[in-house]
Amino acid sequence: MSAKPAALVENLEWVRERISVAAVRAGRRAGEITLIAVSKTHSAGNIQQLYEAGVRHFGENRVQERESKLSQTTGLQADWHMIGHLQKNKAARAVQLFSSIDSVDSLAVAERLDRAPAESASRLRVLIEVKLDPEPAKSGAVAQELPPLVAAISRLPHLELRGLMGIPPYFDNPEEARPFFRHLRELRDALRAEMGPEALPVLSMGMSHDFEIAIEEGATEIRVGTALFGARGEP
Ligand SMILES: *Cc1c(COP(=O)(O)O)cnc(C)c1O
Repeated sequence: MSAKPAALVENLEWVRERISVAAVRAGRRAGEITLIAVSKTHSAGNIQQLYEAGVRHFGENRVQERESKLSQTTGLQADWHMIGHLQKNKAARAVQLFSSIDSVDSLAVAERLDRAPAESASRLRVLIEVKLDPEPAKSGAVAQELPPLVAAISRLPHLELRGLMGIPPYFDNPEEARPFFRHLRELRDALRAEMGPEALPVLSMGMSHDFEIAIEEGATEIRVGTALFGARGEP
């Protein structure tokens, strides 16, 4: 199903408004926060509409889905973020399709990304996904394994480790996600104590229903799907 352009642009304006209000409340500037439009299950036509309205970052959670929209989106000067769990055997392809892998959760995947032949000479931007949700099926590196993982990934010559990504459990009341966002920021701050105050500047956290809380807790990137594109159908 394809939303009407006007609706998408209105949704975008509303999301931007919510971003600025949350930023002001937190004493931050809205310009510090990058909006990643999560386009999984949505058409290339809808992506194009948001692009024309100024969105420059898009997120997909499956390599194959990005690939299937590739030919219809090659004209867009946008950054594509891989935000879903990445299997080792898809790493080489992901390097060609994405400008950032935001969901690295093991050294094995990072090493595959590091070894893959890259399109561009610059290093591939990566974030480490940290497991915030205690639910066993959820992916991400656990907090205790973070310091050695960060150290090892930082040594890989073709990757540029920029920060952390995390997904809290779903709560009807987004306020309940706050301690999880705060925890991710504190993990980053603890790593900074070792690595220096400029290290790991990116905190990718917050989705449609909880991004204001994430912004208050220091998010620099938010990943928003439903609030921009409307509800997703069955994938
Ligand atoms: C789908 C998805 C989002 C966006 O979720 P919405 O609730 O639709 O905003 C954000 N992050 C990840 C990792 C996702 O898979």
